[in-house]
Amino acid sequence: MTKRDYYEVLGVSRSATKAEIKKAYRKIAIKFHPDKNPDDPDAEEKFKEAAEAYEVLSDDDKRQRYDRFGHDGVKNTGGFHGGGMSMDDIFSQFGDIFGGHNPFESFFGGGRSYGRRTSGRRGSNLRIKIKLDLEEVAHGTEKKIKVNRLVLADGVSYKSCPTCGGSGQIRKVVNTMLGQMVSTTTCHTCGGSGKIIDKRPPGVDSSGLVQKEEVISIKIPAGVEDGMQLSMAGKGNYGPNGGPPGDLLILIEEKPHPELKRDGNNVMYDLYVNVADAALGTTLEVPTIDGRAKIKLEPGTQSGRILRLRGKGIKDLNGYGYGDELIHVNVWTPKQLTKEEKEILEKLRHSPNFIPKPGKNEKSFFERMKEFF
Ligand SMILES: [Zn+2]
Repeated sequence: MTKRDYYEVLGVSRSATKAEIKKAYRKIAIKFHPDKNPDDPDAEEKFKEAAEAYEVLSDDDKRQRYDRFGHDGVKNTGGFHGGGMSMDDIFSQFGDIFGGHNPFESFFGGGRSYGRRTSGRRGSNLRIKIKLDLEEVAHGTEKKIKVNRLVLADGVSYKSCPTCGGSGQIRKVVNTMLGQMVSTTTCHTCGGSGKIIDKRPPGVDSSGLVQKEEVISIKIPAGVEDGMQLSMAGKGNYGPNGGPPGDLLILIEEKPHPELKRDGNNVMYDLYVNVADAALGTTLEVPTIDGRAKIKLEPGTQSGRILRLRGKGIKDLNGYGYGDELIHVNVWTPKQLTKEEKEILEKLRHSPNFIPKPGKNEKSFFERMKEFF
């Protein structure tokens, strides 16, 4: 079978840039992907043909030899094993093409695994703490956080694991009374990935990983609580020898608000008013999670009354609306008095309206509690 020209396969000109070649290959790889074209040998052939063309044209050295000598110039080099590339070779190329993440899992519903490609040991989880103030808890927020994670280093190459021969598994034949038994265990050298590191640049550990500082944007939904843990799949450390990454676990910590206290989705505020304001009525400002709000105090407001600002609490994490702000009224009894103040109060002490007369409209402490909790 004569091979088609690699430029023709990818549909690019002989002077195409690396970016153009990559783009062309991505298109073809998606179009002829075997998951998308099951039982179509023609599509699979085109898929392999494109992978081979990309393998050569994306490599400066191979491309140069191909330009000078044609197909003969790149025979039996790199990823070629006689009759073209294996599926494993093609899929290991994808990390480079699609930025470290194989899109076909999400494109085509996943489920299909190509042997050792996904069998490497998973990376460890990363844990971070995020401190939020009450406003951020109430409305949700987006935080950009610097994370030091282990990622696959550039310039690392792998070779087949000599212990297991690349299968990732070790078969043991044991002679027993009942005859020979075969047991299979995960290879301890490569951790089941079937690959071990071949070449690595300085600073890269023996798993091919390197510490990298990354800024990760974390969306925090409204209504989270102190001690809750969120997780972002795949944002943890990469696994050794090409294993998939672990998760990023985010522990929520609430910073206390100077004036407001949280109780579930409600927000509580202790309001202190003087005797005159409570008796005469007034307009006052109170803090809320959205800044300050004006409230009206009716004439004759009793100490212990609870006022409600509907919907001024925290948005429910599961979408069941908003909590309220509950304002607990405390009528302030003066602790020190001037001579003049004492005289005024002495006059009021026996005034008929100053004698407590709790009536039907005054709710008991227990009734008030029941009403709100
Ligand atoms: Zn191995």
